[in-house]
Amino acid sequence: MSLQNSKSANPKVGFVSLGCPKALVDSERILTQLKVEGYDLVPSYDDADVVVVNTCGFIDSAVAESLDAIGEAMAENGKVIVTGCLGKREDVIREAHPGVLSISGPQDYASVMGAVHHALPPRHDPFVDLVPRRAVDTGSDIGVKLTPKHYAYLKISEGCNHRCSFCIIPSMRGDLVSRPVDQVLREAEKLAMGGVKELLVISQDTSAYGVDLRYAEREWRGKAYQTRMKALCEGLSELGLWTRLHYVYPYPHVDDVIPLMAEGRLLPYLDIPFQHASPRILRLMKRPGAVDKTLERIQRWRDTCPEITIRSTFIVGFPGETDAEFESLLDFLEEAQLDRVGAFAYSPVEGAKANDLPDPVPEEVKQERLARFMELQADISTAKLEAKVGTTQRCLVDALDGELAIARSMADAPEIDGLVQIQNGFEAGLRPGEFVDVAIMGSDEHDLYGEVAFED
Ligand code: SF4
Repeated sequence: MSLQNSKSANPKVGFVSLGCPKALVDSERILTQLKVEGYDLVPSYDDADVVVVNTCGFIDSAVAESLDAIGEAMAENGKVIVTGCLGKREDVIREAHPGVLSISGPQDYASVMGAVHHALPPRHDPFVDLVPRRAVDTGSDIGVKLTPKHYAYLKISEGCNHRCSFCIIPSMRGDLVSRPVDQVLREAEKLAMGGVKELLVISQDTSAYGVDLRYAEREWRGKAYQTRMKALCEGLSELGLWTRLHYVYPYPHVDDVIPLMAEGRLLPYLDIPFQHASPRILRLMKRPGAVDKTLERIQRWRDTCPEITIRSTFIVGFPGETDAEFESLLDFLEEAQLDRVGAFAYSPVEGAKANDLPDPVPEEVKQERLARFMELQADISTAKLEAKVGTTQRCLVDALDGELAIARSMADAPEIDGLVQIQNGFEAGLRPGEFVDVAIMGSDEHDLYGEVAFED
């Protein structure tokens, strides 16, 4: 558990946050509301009057981790409120931990707060009661952040209208619900005023943003913006921050934001999961399958914005994947020359439609394919990073570690990509949250190494 200890007489809540950045944003909203209502957030089970566990339920290992976390909180404290994605599978939780006080699904902030109030009534505090209600009501204002001060996740929508056959997110989080663009832009503006230098735009499906609101037009800073990915990016670019797009589903209109990247208004970085390259497997996955067009599009993006970094994820060993289809995936990888790639061996997720598909790939074949896939990508990544040696890269410092400053370039998203180690970072007086130009002197498969580039 995290957060400061408290010696006050306020009721005390412990909080365990698991899962993806979207779950992290949910945690931030709940924590903000708890603080607004006068609860103290404490770092140990012993100090807590009640513990909230925000769970993840995406894959089997995440379910196991969530159940373990609930078990630990039950053993150490005994008063436990469970929320988050695994909350949608109440039977699984009840079977393992029948004594939990309450279970709710993701974004169900009202149920979490209701359960906390029931277990631990808030202390009436005239000062706290004057604080305007925030995170839970509007989902738009700034409160407790679990990320470092200089970057923040900006959640623009919940849920997803797709039905990829390997995924149960729509059944857990529902269909797409977008936040109106003015609300998102106001939140971004406040984050910027609070010292944030980099915004990480997240959702389940960033390119679908606004479709549920029919791209409703809203006003921000005296100008009209549509609730639509491109207009949102244009608005965000007014703030002069680094803005990074994640979870961009490969719709054709993704092409519209590449010129903004070329103009320096948006980070030249696209996190776009392709999942596979075989049209037949993509059809089985219920994903767009025009692979030739994907390669052409990647080329067009690079023509428009040569410095673009493309990150993608893939699944190998999907049910029915033949040797030839796997080879076609390797060919795609070779040709696409993507900068950053994550890959998973397919593992069945309870409730996913793909479980009903015939011809599952044996585990050892899946693992062997994953190893071959990652080996090829390691060579591509190594060569791509090597090509940066001798260049100067704009970086954002995340932390200091002895003599080193640990930073990220425009090509590196926090947690998932590489780092830039600045050898003379301490000597140069760098601080977290500071931008610096770095002369790149070395590289490996993931990271870059360099020194602060001083002007002559
Ligand atoms: S687009 Fe993403 S969240 Fe939506 S169903 Fe497909 S994998 Fe799941």
